[in-house]
Amino acid sequence: MSETPVTHDRLRRLHVAGPELEINGQPLSRLVARVGRTPFYAYDRAALTARVAGLRAALPAEVELHYAVKANPMPAVVGHMAPLVDGFDVASQGELLVALDAGMSPREISFAGPAKTGLELASAVAAGICVNVESELELTRLAAIAERTGWTPRIALRVNPDFELKGAGMKMGGAPRQFGIDAERIPAALESARMLGLALEGLHIFCGSQNLSAEALGDANRKTLDLAARLTDHHRDGFRFVNIGGGYGIPYFPGEKPFDLAAVGAALGGSIAEFRPALGAARIVIELGRYLVGEAGYYVCEVTDVKVSKGQTFAMVNGGLHHHLANSGNFGQVLRKNYPVVVGNRLDAKPVASVTVVGPLCTPLDIVADRMLLPALAVGDLVVVLQSGAYGYTASPQRFLSHPAPVEILV
Ligand SMILES: *Cc1c(COP(=O)(O)O)cnc(C)c1O
Repeated sequence: MSETPVTHDRLRRLHVAGPELEINGQPLSRLVARVGRTPFYAYDRAALTARVAGLRAALPAEVELHYAVKANPMPAVVGHMAPLVDGFDVASQGELLVALDAGMSPREISFAGPAKTGLELASAVAAGICVNVESELELTRLAAIAERTGWTPRIALRVNPDFELKGAGMKMGGAPRQFGIDAERIPAALESARMLGLALEGLHIFCGSQNLSAEALGDANRKTLDLAARLTDHHRDGFRFVNIGGGYGIPYFPGEKPFDLAAVGAALGGSIAEFRPALGAARIVIELGRYLVGEAGYYVCEVTDVKVSKGQTFAMVNGGLHHHLANSGNFGQVLRKNYPVVVGNRLDAKPVASVTVVGPLCTPLDIVADRMLLPALAVGDLVVVLQSGAYGYTASPQRFLSHPAPVEILV
């Protein structure tokens, strides 16, 4: 059941200067000393910057790039992204405040989420950001806030599309969903907004996550623009923007490979040209989370014990599921697969044995790496989980079992 580490595409692409892992030019041992303890998350600034540059080069120049803050809301990360991208998408008032603190103009921030509270809507209107409205009741709530405050809400409609993104890790369209307003009800919602005196700026159509097929992504972009064009027919004034979502995936597991970004960019250019006459002057926005930050992040923990049980070697580490739920296989995966893992202080050591790396929690779910071919591990070795920049720190049940929280640093 063991696998060789090289089956992880990310390991093949890991730039290695010596026996020790470097993160943005900093040797891991210096980062451990800087933090003063393990476990910690480290995010690589240069990798974030390079990722955005790669997207800009591959996508049509007119496409605006938003960062979906929920993937990694660490304030320093959000601050680093602010001057690189064209806007932020937030999903709570907490993220809204982080986005504004980071210096992003409120004009370029939008707020989606299916159960926004009155406080969140009032906060969004006060801040002057755009609310992606997810129900007709939410429209009436925004109209009431406008009436009470005299401030003009900025509004887009989130559409539950009538198609689905093939091969997406998490599907969000083409079926009954809590997200957005069904496409066939949008004309009625547009009419409601008019009656309420609310001006609509745009459409938001997001149909899935973690897609690694360039063909499926191109297909979804085309269908999304087609839907936006059809809905534009129902809106006299036209839309100022159409947010066509994203869904760009990164390779996590053995056998997965990065999708062909150049092909997606070229296909998107063709689709925009096809629907441009119907879309008028609407700006085209894409919103990406994990694609921007996922590969820039590392989770670092330390071996505390090694033992053999019935022939299987176990290495215990001081971090695990409570810090990095997704790596444990319990954040949406059906069958658990290993993230790419390296021994960060001994990259040159030969993999010799099948090792199961486990965390400190009293549950068999707390697995860091399952029967992976790794070098012989010793107490003090640094086990590093790659692809950990998105849905790690804030997507994990850190209070479970009351262990200390990990540190986060931006390197
Ligand atoms: C979560 C989310 C995203 C980001 O998804 P990724 O898979 O991280 O790119 C984008 N848009 C919306 C509406 C989301 O809910």
